Amino acid sequence: MLTGMQIAVIGGDARQLEIIRKLTELDARLSLIGFEQLDHAFTGAVKEKLDEVDFLNMDALILPVPGTNLEGHVETIFSNEKVILTAEMLLKTPEHCTIYSGISNAYLNGITKEANRPLVQLFERDDVAIYNSIPTVEGTIMMAIQHTDFTIHGSNITVLGLGRVGMSVARTFHALGAKIKVGARKTEHLARITEMGLTPFHLNEIEQQVKDTDILINTIPLLIVTASVISKMPAHTLIIDLASKPGGTDFRYAEKRGIKALLAPGLPGIVAPKTAGQILANVLAQLLQDNLSKRKGKIK
Ligand code: NAP
Repeated sequence: MLTGMQIAVIGGDARQLEIIRKLTELDARLSLIGFEQLDHAFTGAVKEKLDEVDFLNMDALILPVPGTNLEGHVETIFSNEKVILTAEMLLKTPEHCTIYSGISNAYLNGITKEANRPLVQLFERDDVAIYNSIPTVEGTIMMAIQHTDFTIHGSNITVLGLGRVGMSVARTFHALGAKIKVGARKTEHLARITEMGLTPFHLNEIEQQVKDTDILINTIPLLIVTASVISKMPAHTLIIDLASKPGGTDFRYAEKRGIKALLAPGLPGIVAPKTAGQILANVLAQLLQDNLSKRKGKIK
């Protein structure tokens, strides 16, 4: 239980509602900033404006997945209020106050460092990335179906990268009956791909390996699907690029060659916002609980 904890949830989208639901169920007291247009009321949560917040008593601040933008602006889907988080606000919080966001940037790193408050980036955690790979794969399947006129079953699919997303993508498309090749650079990844019953190749060989690809799914956040690679693909290949913006594909060249290439960021929040919110809510609840227990001296 989070009884006695005071937490500010600042801005965000539908995913934040799951976090609010979970934390109020656990008996935390919440200040909701940037939610005045939300019809739903949660027992134990009070909607406030940023200038009304009592930062002195905050044990944690929860930001939306993107954190802030480079000017400190926090995205608020449920409000027209302009919410800007500053180092001055953080300096008012108690020293133990922890800031949680999905990802960070130079601005958010800068103000948390200036105020000397811990910043936790949830998307850097393996558990969050692995859970998130589930809705990401479902979104990828949706895109593959929407943008092709052939079945996934029996098609040649090339997956680039065997990280948290790549492994889930390869395994799930394989289970749907596709013929899967996976490109990686580490020998242990090539071994794992073999163990999974898939066809491994080293990324050095990518140009030869894409010659029969129906769908290429990239998870490597680096320009890897270059013009030269695209030039070797059949004209009907669909490229789905899951890597974080700007992706790993030469989209200009793909368009020039008439190959459909789609950058598909943020799939969990698009195809399954409730699940994506629950993933964050469950991990956050555990982290807040651990923090509270530590402060109460239960964990040495
Ligand atoms: P990850 O576990 O870190 O995996 C990244 C993969 O890229 C690994 O296989 C890694 O191989 C490879 N890689 C990185 N740098 C490389 C390089 N220079 N050369 C060759 N391979 C390289 O990351 P993840 O959690 O799977 O996420 C993958 C990407 O998808 C990220 O950009 C993430 O932001 C994005 N993502 C997108 C969505 C969406 O909705 N589209 C959802 C979740 C995540 P090594 O181990 O050899 O480095």
